[in-house]
Amino acid sequence: MTSIIVEPCLDIIERDKTEIKASFRGLLQDAPSATSTSIANGLSQQLIYQLQLILPNAFVSFDDLSVDLLDAAFPYIQSAAKQGLQRAIQDRGTKMLVNSCYRTIAQQMLLYNDRFNNPNPVAPPGASNHQTGLAIDIEDPRGWEPYLMRCGWSPLAGDPPHFDYVDAGATDIRGKSILAFQQLWNKNNPNNKISEDGDFGPKTENALNQSPANGFAKAPWDDKPRVLKLSQPRMEGSDVERLQAALKKAGIAVGVDGEFGPGTDKAVKEFQAKKTLTADGIVGPRTLTAMA
Ligand SMILES: [Zn+2]
Repeated sequence: MTSIIVEPCLDIIERDKTEIKASFRGLLQDAPSATSTSIANGLSQQLIYQLQLILPNAFVSFDDLSVDLLDAAFPYIQSAAKQGLQRAIQDRGTKMLVNSCYRTIAQQMLLYNDRFNNPNPVAPPGASNHQTGLAIDIEDPRGWEPYLMRCGWSPLAGDPPHFDYVDAGATDIRGKSILAFQQLWNKNNPNNKISEDGDFGPKTENALNQSPANGFAKAPWDDKPRVLKLSQPRMEGSDVERLQAALKKAGIAVGVDGEFGPGTDKAVKEFQAKKTLTADGIVGPRTLTAMA
């Protein structure tokens, strides 16, 4: 496994640019230069879910903590790191603003392909400290530092917004992030398989570059449904599209665009109220059953 390359986090932009994302349905290698990594949100969400199937309960969302997230920051970390983060936020008693946390290898591929336009080093996919599930970039880092340091988090010298969880329970999941992609690729390319070894070699790099930015036709949630809800970044994919089509069929006004925005949230709550379910907008097994 490659060692971690430290990238100055201040210079990596993951802000959302919806107008670009909406117009780009191509392969990662054809993504326009210097755009937001959010144009690969569809593929990124498939990679995150596949990784969660590999590491159930070990790689978790922290969007339930008192945090505000930048648009393309996926709020996922390892569960031990989440516990430390939760304690730090409770101790300080304020909301934490998070600019970046888990970065998928699809996002990293976009940054890496564009590395000659970046004055600072960019790690190849799998080698960034933001693929560990142990890293966050935050606002007001010096204010948070004493709280985070008491809870197993450590600042990174020379990179002010960046903290890593370094305490008990931390494991290296970067190989698993690559494995998740290799599994997903093979599922969608049975005649052009790559080895599922968790290493980022030339064949894996080539396959990743030839992957669709908006996600593969066969998604990991086809086997095991995702819990769908309004979240940041917004959930998107074939499962959201199927949900919207089912809501529409049930007589509820909703756009069928495959993106779970406020309109879909409202439609789900309306459906749940009609079926006397808890109208929380969260599409779990009971709501799915009522829809079938
Ligand atoms: Zn960072």
